[in-house]
Amino acid sequence: MMRLAIICPCYNEHEVLDESARRLSLLLDELTAARKISADSYVLLVNDGSRDDTWEIIRSLHAADPRFRGLNLARNAGHQNAIMAGMMTVRGRCDAAVTIDVDLQDDLEALKRMIDKYREGTDIVYGVKRSRRGDSWMKRTTAESFYRLQHAMGVETVFNHADFRLMSGRALDELAQYGERNLYLRGIVPLLGLRTDTVDDVIGEREAGKSKYTLKKMANLAVDGITSFSVKPIHLIFGAGLFFLGVSVAMTIYILWSYFVHSVVPGWTSLMLSLWFIGSILLLAIGVIGEYIGKIYVEVKARPRYHIESLLGDDPTPPLRKNDER
Ligand code: UDP
Ligand code: MG
Repeated sequence: MMRLAIICPCYNEHEVLDESARRLSLLLDELTAARKISADSYVLLVNDGSRDDTWEIIRSLHAADPRFRGLNLARNAGHQNAIMAGMMTVRGRCDAAVTIDVDLQDDLEALKRMIDKYREGTDIVYGVKRSRRGDSWMKRTTAESFYRLQHAMGVETVFNHADFRLMSGRALDELAQYGERNLYLRGIVPLLGLRTDTVDDVIGEREAGKSKYTLKKMANLAVDGITSFSVKPIHLIFGAGLFFLGVSVAMTIYILWSYFVHSVVPGWTSLMLSLWFIGSILLLAIGVIGEYIGKIYVEVKARPRYHIESLLGDDPTPPLRKNDER
């Protein structure tokens, strides 16, 4: 039977923790009774440097029910890092992990379907928002236009998927190879390959408390979501340079024509010629430098070049994680 770990990042979640813990323990009870998960499955509450008494609440939850475990980060590392810390902590200590926000806006029914998919052999299951009933108009439009922009910039992500997902132990092992700091999990997980699937997720209201995602945090995430995966913005600069070089040729013809056909103010011709020419050369130069910086950026991230799906014959070294029993 599979051992499940549910990971919840918590930042100043005083208002929701008790209620969420109650619902999560009911969920564990139900899944254990249905013999879908083993009795030693657990919830890992990651305290992301909260300023309120979130950690004290987590400690008392653990004291009351050891299926609630806690991980206390020394300072606020942000949602993405908190999730990553949780996943790297449960790695090797579970068969599969589900990450879900502690406000439980995501659908617990979808979580159950994720487990069924895992038992059928899937390694990564994405929760995809089908309805955003609980999200404000603002949140919905900004989020959806962000996903579109990201797509236009050539970043491969799952549309309308946030960080509600199941990862098998094997997927966690592969993920552990990514050492980058500008963490944007929604971009990395699709790079892992493996067997993936989606389940529909109906977004509800926050149980209590306010959103912990400030505008600043959202903007940072959006910038990471594009710049960590795509050098397209740099290509755009280079393209603009080429475009303006073309314009500059057209302008040269026009300027020389003006010079010869009607008299122009002295100095205008040389000024105009250099303006367009130098402008386009500068853009091109920035684009070229950008290309190199883009390459350096990709190198310093030192991402794994490939992930092995399977190997036939020969002893794989280092040993591949053997396909766990489902
Ligand atoms: N969170 C976190 N660190 C932060 C900000 C948020 O761990 O710096 C957690 C928060 O406790 C919640 C999840 O990330 O479990 C999502 O945050 P929230 O529900 O406030 O965002 P929203 O649903 O409004 O996008
Ligand atoms: Mg939320």
